[in-house]
Amino acid sequence: MFGVYAPGQQASQLTYFGLFALQHRGQESAGMAVSNGETTMVSKDMGLVTQVFNERTLAALDGHLAIGHTRYSTTGSTVWDNAQPAYRQVGEAAVALAHNGNLTNTIQLAETLQLDNVTDSELMLEAISREVDATRSDGTGLFQAVMKVAPSFEGAFSLTIMDQGNLVALRDPHGFRPLCLGQLPDGGWVVASETAALDILGADFDREVEPGEMVVINASGLKTYRPFEITPDPKLCVFEFVYFARPDSHLLGRNIHAARQQMGRILADESPVDADVIVPVPESGIPAAQGFAEVSRIHYADGLIKNRYVGRTFIEPSQMLRDRGIRMKLNPIPDTLAGHRVVLVDDSIVRGSTTRQLVTMVREAGATEIHLRISSPPYKWPCFYGMDTSDRSRLLAAERSVDEIQEFLEVDSLAYLSIEGLLAASGGGSFCTACLTNDYPTDISGQAGKFVLEVL
Ligand code: SF4
Repeated sequence: MFGVYAPGQQASQLTYFGLFALQHRGQESAGMAVSNGETTMVSKDMGLVTQVFNERTLAALDGHLAIGHTRYSTTGSTVWDNAQPAYRQVGEAAVALAHNGNLTNTIQLAETLQLDNVTDSELMLEAISREVDATRSDGTGLFQAVMKVAPSFEGAFSLTIMDQGNLVALRDPHGFRPLCLGQLPDGGWVVASETAALDILGADFDREVEPGEMVVINASGLKTYRPFEITPDPKLCVFEFVYFARPDSHLLGRNIHAARQQMGRILADESPVDADVIVPVPESGIPAAQGFAEVSRIHYADGLIKNRYVGRTFIEPSQMLRDRGIRMKLNPIPDTLAGHRVVLVDDSIVRGSTTRQLVTMVREAGATEIHLRISSPPYKWPCFYGMDTSDRSRLLAAERSVDEIQEFLEVDSLAYLSIEGLLAASGGGSFCTACLTNDYPTDISGQAGKFVLEVL
């Protein structure tokens, strides 16, 4: 998710590069809304950022104010209608919204607004638009509307919202999903899910948008508001450190790559193994494997090569696509693996289909033993805050012990990082760990799954 307010600059170009840096967060669709202060244009389509936009389409999107989005669906299907930014014309106001996260009171909100067959993101836009409409005559505008309706949203939502004159960035009071703020070298502001999107633009990191904070940027500058009470105990998703965020991004002042290496070091301390070679599952397992090798003093080598042009398989929407993706994605190097006792290091196991195929592949390449080390604890519980794992029956560790998983994956040994090790490597502090501990920071009793509001 991305937003930019940059007078005198081409916001569509800046948004393109920002989204390009954030492509890993969603690969189903890409889009942007751009305004020159009078008219607003929205351009979005299925596919990657580079497939959706080109120089010609970007040149046609004129203006200094924009928001952008790459979608990874956690509510609603992977179809064009659900691509973002979502958009409404409300009288003279053109309101667009981009959302990272997942609401947990979607059904209740849909009932209040009397809508169905929409996503949680569209429900938020509808609620905001109705308030913009209701206050049109007194001209209080977009940010007052967001201030008023935001407390009716529950769950995970980092948002960028715009009309023709304002860029609004909002983070839910728990701060499940990240959002940061930066200043462009030629003036103006950017907001983005991750700091890597600031780096690509040469923008200076200013700070993170705080949990529960709303930032409004317009011709008068930047102002901050508090639609929610300050949460003393925010809950950033710990899986941002494990899996989601780019290794070159920083969260809570910590570099993600360094945190992942530390996970590997702690894992080696907790679960040592006698072996010949440490092989990462690229690319997500690389930093943890480096840390593991450093502590264990076992030789580190590349034994699996990733096709760089294939997206991350977990993030694709259907099992059929995921299965195809795995086979397209990795190829073993028998010279590294044959005749060796291999420690295979990965960051997580969610559904297990990828890992099982990987193990078979490494065995067929000649490994004599396979010791699997996972740099996060078993993923046992569904996520309702922006990761597409709301169906518990599909989680490998949901009902299995570590021994049973070892047997299922047909590895010689299996060990996961402890929750204490994960939190220590992530710098300590307060995180959401619900998928690992069943300790949900919000009420999830109203959860009904990804397709909750779709007419089937
Ligand atoms: S449940 Fe897990 S994946 Fe979801 S927000 Fe919490 S830590 Fe992250």
